[in-house]
Amino acid sequence: MQMSKLFTKTSKTAPHDADTANAKYLIQGSFVHQEMAGVYSWLPLGLRVLNKVVNIIREEMDAIGGQEILMSALQPKENWITTGRWDSVDILFKLHSQTDKDYALGCSHEELVTPLVGSFIKSYKDLPCAVYQVQTKFRDELRAKSGVLRGREFGMKDMYSFHATQEDLERYYQKVLQAYIKVFQRCGLDVKVTEASGGIFTKNVSHEFQVVTPAGEDNILACPNCTYAQNSEVSTLKEGDKCPDCGGVLAAVKGVEVGNIFDLGTKYSDAFKVEFTAEDGSRQTALMGCYGIGTTRLVGTIVEALHDERGIMWPKLVAPFAIHLVSLNSKDEAVQAKIMDTAATLYEDMLHEGLEVIWDDREASPGEKLADADLLGMPLRILISEKSLKENSVEWKQRAEKDAKLVNLQDVMEEAQGFVEE
Ligand code: ATP
Ligand code: MG
Repeated sequence: MQMSKLFTKTSKTAPHDADTANAKYLIQGSFVHQEMAGVYSWLPLGLRVLNKVVNIIREEMDAIGGQEILMSALQPKENWITTGRWDSVDILFKLHSQTDKDYALGCSHEELVTPLVGSFIKSYKDLPCAVYQVQTKFRDELRAKSGVLRGREFGMKDMYSFHATQEDLERYYQKVLQAYIKVFQRCGLDVKVTEASGGIFTKNVSHEFQVVTPAGEDNILACPNCTYAQNSEVSTLKEGDKCPDCGGVLAAVKGVEVGNIFDLGTKYSDAFKVEFTAEDGSRQTALMGCYGIGTTRLVGTIVEALHDERGIMWPKLVAPFAIHLVSLNSKDEAVQAKIMDTAATLYEDMLHEGLEVIWDDREASPGEKLADADLLGMPLRILISEKSLKENSVEWKQRAEKDAKLVNLQDVMEEAQGFVEE
């Protein structure tokens, strides 16, 4: 991608109402565009991150046997009446049609997935099964805030599993728990897992996946050394106590909930009569689990966890581009021609080798280009200037490191490939 052709531009100033790092940097860098409070459009750079995050999630859900589907966002009122949630879920967006029908805009998909999967379940041989989707969700949040962390329209991966026995559900639940930890670690995050009550959903067990950052809304007690955490509201422990898992010292911190998994029991399968013939011939009700990850919130959380005062520091696996190639302009025409020529050759070579590179080939000043490279946060910056060319080199700097070094022009490709693959 050549920056001169990118239709979006960075902005020098942060939005005046930016209350968090993700609100500030994602908008300033034109990763997203705010349409109204809590509603964002995803622009080329931001969408590349979102797609990478979603693909990591897909790989991990596929690896535990999840089957991807895509359900409708528009849902019939009748299903919400069946579960009793039409009047009890305050964040549900309701639509009234000119045909006098009522609809819900999906804030969650139990009301669709339960009868849908249920229609295919006849016997214990049809179980277990797990389906998931990556979809836009709508919630009439009282207060949208913190950039993409709390929106009224947002992305979610939601998975639902169906089981013949409690043991089977619990086994699968643990598999999902481990898969979730992998997802967040691959996204470059240090995730904590809290055991929480299921809230309005269920009396059964549920776990939240929390990332420690001051931008979080949840108060948790977290172990700095392992994934152990508890929600402060329900915790039997207090700050300074020893971590029951590893003996580390628990700290009271703020967390962002990036994922949540629930044992639903038969709450929804009872409502929609999802029954099957068991091995002994008896009729039984299927047990369900549900598992959510906020995909857009996850992108915002990565920014909260990985930024400095100059901008974002994307982890390699989710960065829009691995490499930010910068050609610094010179007033000397011959030098300028050489800089552009060298940069163009390197750029083409990188594309040819399948390296993800964005080239700042704009006519902007050096200061502007360097500030934008820091703001946009690609993991590796490769800079070509009059100064570096005098040494027959490029300046090589990782976003998360302080120091730059010179790399000889003839070694750049090999080193860049090594960097991307390591
Ligand atoms: P919260 O407690 O933050 O309101 P929740 O517990 O209501 O979230 P779930 O129903 O568990 O959310 O949804 C699954 C995931 O979707 C959450 O773990 C979170 O990552 C994400 N999510 C929920 N609400 C929002 C929102 N308004 N904006 C962005 N992401 C959200
Ligand atoms: Mg939740």
